Amino acid sequence: MTVDGRLPGGLGLATYASDPAHSRGRLYPQTAAPTRNPFQRDRDRVIHSTAFRRLVYKTQVFLNHEGDLFRTRMTHSLEVAQLGRSLARSLRLHEDLVEAIALAHDLGHTPFGHAGQDALNEVMRAQRADAADPEGAGFEHNLQSLRVVDTLERCYPDFDGLNLTFETREGVLKHCSLRNAQRLEALRPNDVGARFIEKTAPSLEAQLCNLADEIAYNAHDVDDGVRSGLIDFEQLQAVPLIAEHAEAACRAHPGLSGRRLLAETIRRMLTAQVYDVMRHTQSQINAAGVETVADVRAHGRDLVGFTPDMRAASTALKQFLFANLYRHPQVSEKTTIARQVVVDLFHAYRDDPRAMDTTAPAASSPTRTIADYIAGMTDRFAIREHARLTGQQVFEFALS
Ligand code: MG
Repeated sequence: MTVDGRLPGGLGLATYASDPAHSRGRLYPQTAAPTRNPFQRDRDRVIHSTAFRRLVYKTQVFLNHEGDLFRTRMTHSLEVAQLGRSLARSLRLHEDLVEAIALAHDLGHTPFGHAGQDALNEVMRAQRADAADPEGAGFEHNLQSLRVVDTLERCYPDFDGLNLTFETREGVLKHCSLRNAQRLEALRPNDVGARFIEKTAPSLEAQLCNLADEIAYNAHDVDDGVRSGLIDFEQLQAVPLIAEHAEAACRAHPGLSGRRLLAETIRRMLTAQVYDVMRHTQSQINAAGVETVADVRAHGRDLVGFTPDMRAASTALKQFLFANLYRHPQVSEKTTIARQVVVDLFHAYRDDPRAMDTTAPAASSPTRTIADYIAGMTDRFAIREHARLTGQQVFEFALS
């Protein structure tokens, strides 16, 4: 691809693809890089950020110390980027933008996955004194991802944050409540919060990352779930999407079993989902008659998606994972401990802010400073801090 994002050989991007030459720009104007388009530059900034490196030690579903082969936020983000790029290329959307969004989409996640986020949200919401915090009440990982790239990374001489393009930032903020959108809009008019108020759609690249995220975690949670022993392949045959591809894998490779059968089943399922999205999205784009990025936004509804049949199949898989993996007693047990770690840390820092080892300037409120600090932690740092501040060793593993 050339600097302006055109594919070689005359196969250009679609007219409705995001175009770095027409980016809505950065919060702080900068001169263009000589060899990279603005979306490539965004991707590179994300990869070199501190928050990105921390993803290695942050939980996806299984706690980071439970096994070396489970997905972490880092490997999850790489898988989302891979699926996203494949989809973008076939739909002639901008691969670099998809990659930048995918690599940044989980930067705001707390330690311990959703358990950490839920606990931090609850303790933040309980802080009535902070009701007037311009950052809003509570804690939400999507907003935090935006906060990481806009404010919390501090490595450039002239500005806070990574100063990414509007298009990457828009993709990072994939969900937002109306209240938070209005708050963002008050801080920066006509910025990434506006679409949640105006009910316009984000770029196709942003839409694509959302779906790539879902495809990636459903597939890798099946893999990690079986690896952990908490679910087994027999049980998974109750999920039509798995049963269909397991059967096809066995037909094509008689006698296939164990990990190879699981891997082949997941591979076939991923391929079917990717092709489904490609075909359905292209037909939705054609039917909507969109020709430009402006048309995509004005359309208001997502054009990237599964066919209704694949949507139903994906939902059934998700429901299986909820019932049998995410709510498995052994996962719940760890989740309860992880929540307590976050709550205890919050209270310890609230009682003694000097216990935080940070040079970051104070945020909009004392508790927001604490939330930023906790959200930035890796699983193992949080466990270590918890042991230091409470004297309790909550997880049984060596912290050396
Ligand atoms: Mg994700």
